Amino acid sequence: FAILNFILYCFNRLSVQAYLRRWMNTGLIVWIISAAFDLMDEVIIQPAWVGYYIEDVTQLSGMLCVSVGVYHIVHYINDRYADVSIDSFRDELTLLPNRRYFSNVLLDLRAVDYYLFFVDIDYFKKINDRYGHDRGDEVLRQFGAMLGELYDDEIMAARIGGEEFAVILQMASQDQADALARHILKRTQALVIDDDIRITVSIGVAKKRENERLEKLLKRVDIALYQAKRLGRNRVEWAPRQ
Ligand code: GH3
Ligand code: MG
Ligand code: MG
Repeated sequence: FAILNFILYCFNRLSVQAYLRRWMNTGLIVWIISAAFDLMDEVIIQPAWVGYYIEDVTQLSGMLCVSVGVYHIVHYINDRYADVSIDSFRDELTLLPNRRYFSNVLLDLRAVDYYLFFVDIDYFKKINDRYGHDRGDEVLRQFGAMLGELYDDEIMAARIGGEEFAVILQMASQDQADALARHILKRTQALVIDDDIRITVSIGVAKKRENERLEKLLKRVDIALYQAKRLGRNRVEWAPRQ
């Protein structure tokens, strides 16, 4: 009896959805009533039907309500957990997958061939300086949305740094990979943010070699991107073979 009251008290100090609270409260109160009859049994002698019907029926329905409540609580926690998992892999600003998700994908693709692109916005610091950080954020948002539109079974894009993005292309020829990089270049040139901001990007690309170590691949793509910057930006460079 005391234990049930204590649970009821503790439960009502937690913050939960109203409908969960209703199920649990109803269940616990009915259960407590049954326990109260049980307790009174020791003091006053009750007719046998009270023991059989009231006590047992209330106890059973109380337990039933609590079970339904617990079932809903487990559901609720599962849903929340799924939401949190998704959020932890999503970049807040662009809603693209974030760096953590990208790293996981690369690990999953260890045994597979693919093309890896690093896409870095050119002179982004100047955009911030000229238009302010908030409009800089808007540029990132719209650029991210554009990359998001590329998504299909073979293409995935992620935001891996401030103004740095990565694209993974699977099941494609070198020509198709090159075409995708140039497509991104063109789409970016055509992007006009808030009527007056225009940007360009530099892209480094490499094809992952069979059994190539991840660090080595990332290094090659990085060198290609650096080369694209060095050769004037707004262009695509392929990684050296070695
Ligand atoms: P480069 O052509 O060589 O890439 O020049 P850059 O100015 O784009 O490169 P740099 O790496 O020097 O500067 C990147 C800038 O991006 C610096 C930082 O202020 C800005 N930045 C990073 N993250 C964010 C963000 O979330 N929002 C905004 N508005 N700016 C960001
Ligand atoms: Mg940049
Ligand atoms: Mg950068």
